[in-house]
Amino acid sequence: MSKGKLVVISGPSGVGKGTVVEKMMRMRDDLIFSVSATTREPRPGEQEGVSYYFISRERFEEMIRQGEFLEYDAHADNYYGTPRGQAEEKRARGTVLLDIDPMGARQVRDNEPEALLIFMMPPSVEELERRLRNRGDTSEDQIRKRMKRAVWEMEQRVWYDYVVVNDDAQRCAEEILRILANPSEN
Ligand code: 5GP
Repeated sequence: MSKGKLVVISGPSGVGKGTVVEKMMRMRDDLIFSVSATTREPRPGEQEGVSYYFISRERFEEMIRQGEFLEYDAHADNYYGTPRGQAEEKRARGTVLLDIDPMGARQVRDNEPEALLIFMMPPSVEELERRLRNRGDTSEDQIRKRMKRAVWEMEQRVWYDYVVVNDDAQRCAEEILRILANPSEN
């Protein structure tokens, strides 16, 4: 069975990965989003099975024990992971986009050397903090933790295949599609 590409998109929380990925999927119908499992609470507007599979810590730990994750990581007091089964099933149908953090990206790269790794940067650190605050759904304590984590995440961009800057979601989406179309020329 032929397998589609795995495309990892990482970037600090608040950088706008969700919006860019949505725009990419609107422009190309062979892209399929890998839905992660998480133990964090849904944010307003997030739908079960679309944004994430929202599951309990007990269930997540059971899935770890059963080897059901392609990769997983703990992030801001919660677990996040890519269920292996759904990722493989989607891969049989097209190019699969994974919105995962650098710890997960490393696991994917080690297991699937062919995967394409893209890191999304904010135009500036100040802009990232402003976007996180504007989202209005994250506590002050969470913002502090996420900003600290963001600094570490942005340092990891050096080992990614490509780095893009999300100064404008549409432009950034088009840039990533160009990379996908012709990885070696970018
Ligand atoms: P958020 O809580 O803002 O939705 O996501 C927080 C972070 O978790 C983001 O950096 C996102 O890329 C990462 N993340 C989401 N799903 C996964 C996953 O399945 N695995 C890993 N390793 N990270 C994930």
